[in-house]
Amino acid sequence: MSNHPRRDEHGIVITRARAHNLKDVCLTIPKGVITVFTGVSGSGKSSVVFDTIAVESQRQLNETFPAFVRNRLPKYEKPEADGIHHLSPAIVVDQRPLGGGARSTVGTMTDIASLIRLLFSRAGEPSAGMSTAYSFNDPSGACPTCQGLGRTVQLDLDRFFDRNKSLNTGALLFPLFNVGGVQWTLFTRSGLFDNDKPLRSYTKREWQTLLHGGPDGEVRIELVTRKGTQNVTYEGIVDRFDRLYLNRDLSTLSKRTRDAVEEFTTDAGCPGCHGSRLNEAALRTRIDGLNIADHMAMEITDLIGVLDGVDHPLGTPIAQAAVEGLRRIDAIGLGYLHLGRETASLSGGEGQRLKIVRNLGSSLTGMTYIFDEPSTGLHPRDVNRVGRLLTQLRDQGNTLLIVEHDRDVIALADHVVDMGPGAGTHGGQVVFEGSAARLRRAGTLTGRHLGRTLPLKTEVRSPTGHLSVAHASRHNLEDVSVDIPTGVLVAVTGVAGSGKSTLISEVFTEQHPDAAVVIDQSAIGANSRSTPATWLGIMDTVRKLFADAGGVPAGLFSFNSTGACSACGGKGSITADMAFADPVTTVCETCRGLRYSAEALAHTLRGRTITDVLALTAEEACAFFTGPGEKGVRAALGTLVEVGLGYLTLGQPLSTLSGGERQRLKLAGHLGSRSGIYVMDELTTGLHMADIETLQRLLDRLVDDGNTVIVIEHNLDVVKRADWVIDMGPEGGRHGGRVLFTGTPAQLLKHRASHTAAALRQDLA
Ligand code: ADP
Ligand code: ADP
Ligand code: ZN
Ligand code: ZN
Repeated sequence: MSNHPRRDEHGIVITRARAHNLKDVCLTIPKGVITVFTGVSGSGKSSVVFDTIAVESQRQLNETFPAFVRNRLPKYEKPEADGIHHLSPAIVVDQRPLGGGARSTVGTMTDIASLIRLLFSRAGEPSAGMSTAYSFNDPSGACPTCQGLGRTVQLDLDRFFDRNKSLNTGALLFPLFNVGGVQWTLFTRSGLFDNDKPLRSYTKREWQTLLHGGPDGEVRIELVTRKGTQNVTYEGIVDRFDRLYLNRDLSTLSKRTRDAVEEFTTDAGCPGCHGSRLNEAALRTRIDGLNIADHMAMEITDLIGVLDGVDHPLGTPIAQAAVEGLRRIDAIGLGYLHLGRETASLSGGEGQRLKIVRNLGSSLTGMTYIFDEPSTGLHPRDVNRVGRLLTQLRDQGNTLLIVEHDRDVIALADHVVDMGPGAGTHGGQVVFEGSAARLRRAGTLTGRHLGRTLPLKTEVRSPTGHLSVAHASRHNLEDVSVDIPTGVLVAVTGVAGSGKSTLISEVFTEQHPDAAVVIDQSAIGANSRSTPATWLGIMDTVRKLFADAGGVPAGLFSFNSTGACSACGGKGSITADMAFADPVTTVCETCRGLRYSAEALAHTLRGRTITDVLALTAEEACAFFTGPGEKGVRAALGTLVEVGLGYLTLGQPLSTLSGGERQRLKLAGHLGSRSGIYVMDELTTGLHMADIETLQRLLDRLVDDGNTVIVIEHNLDVVKRADWVIDMGPEGGRHGGRVLFTGTPAQLLKHRASHTAAALRQDLA
């Protein structure tokens, strides 16, 4: 345990870092090598790597810009540490969705699409020399019907309206157009309709006006909102909806709005270009019989072969440059994708791997690269491939900082920083620094787990029945049928892109919508004020306990109500509008960020104020709420501890949770409810080997209570302890999509063609 930094010119030196749970962490991280950060979930890895190092690097970078540019950039607070020295510019390669809307594809984000376009303009028949545009982002190349989107999305009128109702009684079903809202007022105040007339009785002309605007020209409406009176021009529902939600970058909308838009629209392939996004002139050009749309739709592994065959004085060098980029994508296990694939539809792990590829193509050296669990979504077979790319990046002269739990990635490390010993307040310290080999002999939790191999489960449970997936055909599945046993723990395995999510998260849950509860990592549909306490639904009881103790109304203990600090209105911060610069946000001086009024904070429950209670971890709160009538609160908090989230504080904003933490929080909400079938996709993301053991016990308990648990999983420790395995493959994409094997883990071990079987044999060897 070293807590005294070596003053080393060749390392990044951190002195007394205090972000979140860090306890004055002092560290020297060697440069030019791979450092892996390990430790249980919540131990403080991200607090060191992302909230201290990455934040400081970004801040230092911003300082180099002139003030007028800096004002336009996001503000980075100084991280909570006494010092961070010898940092080189950092690039964070994380799993945040790539976004970018329908116009961002695998081809555009890796720049390979522009090489292919160049190839067509130089070597295409018959166009060489003409300058046809081959880009769907260029108006002269784009399909005129869909403007280059490849599909047309339209308002689903049958869903949007309840024709038996009038505007006043709720005929507009789209939630953002509900009765009383601003959008609704636009129609009811327009003077164009009888607001009490059911839509089914509308004349043709009224329908036309409702959908597309009136025949009589412009109608102005006076709209009174909280911000004042506005004059707006009447627009039909379809036009307004298109403008507000469809003709813009969807990633700028909130998740909730996006979901609502998706529910109320139908998505159809473009009839003009059949999805290729390009106009006829662009599609007429061919190289060896294939047009540019064919190239974009072909799996990358196949496209490599096609481009390798290009024999043309101007074209060959361009084709070879594209092949070089494509080989990198293939090498990282994404050869099953095609260049036309929208980045928004990729998983977090796939997106992160593409970002790695993009960085490998650059010739930057002397950078610090920061990775968040690069093994996410990868089959054990492919982890080694990512490992090779990471070492390549190091060998180009870069420093790599990696947060990771996977044994094979830890083994790559030149240096390991093990955080712990526990999570939350029990963590926040460096418990080991040194080589991966020495870590195995160190007595830390990580060291002990690295040294042992779990045995294969041989005594499996017997199924109580089964549910079928019948004739599934989607993405790369072609008429797949399989029985999924109930009453047992089922692991669905296979390399990335083999079809696991398509089969289970999509087809199975759609065929059995009432049976299956999907517990995923997506954002929790909650507002910025949501916390574990509000999510568990215990805040009403907590407020009532405070109210009963003080003989005052419960609203006093809500910062959304009478308990709010009057200076900041319960926000905890104050935003000042500056005349010539961006608004500045500072912590409210009156409540010091605590959000509550002095009156609310004068009351205590067993010696603690409401803010003290919200600062307790779930684990501490379990020990605090022991009174009569507090059983419900304790039980709810107990579920958090059970899923390994006992280190979260009751008041931590849910927006700060990682995807894996969100997934486990959702699982906590379902414990005890006996609905039957749980589907979970990579539940082990972000989890240490010790966390996985906790989770495994929980899964076993769920099954023993009579539930069925289906996990899509790469982690071999979980696969080894399943009762039943469904293995997909053999490869990803077109070369996958089949059920290779169903049976017990012990039977799988003998399978000759399955990559999962091979990985299991190697693990147990
Ligand atoms: P790890 O990366 O090892 O899983 P983290 O660094 O994310 O751990 O978290 C360490 C501790 O800090 C945990 O108790 C976590 O709940 C807490 N924490 C993380 N982010 C925040 C935040 N934005 N606000 C408050 N506490 C946080
Ligand atoms: P896994 O879960 O095993 O990684 P998936 O079910 O996600 O595999 O993917 C199976 C195949 O379907 C892959 O070829 C993948 O590229 C393709 N695919 C998945 N989602 C989409 C999508 N939204 N659009 C087009 N193809 C998709
Ligand atoms: Zn089109
Ligand atoms: Zn305040």
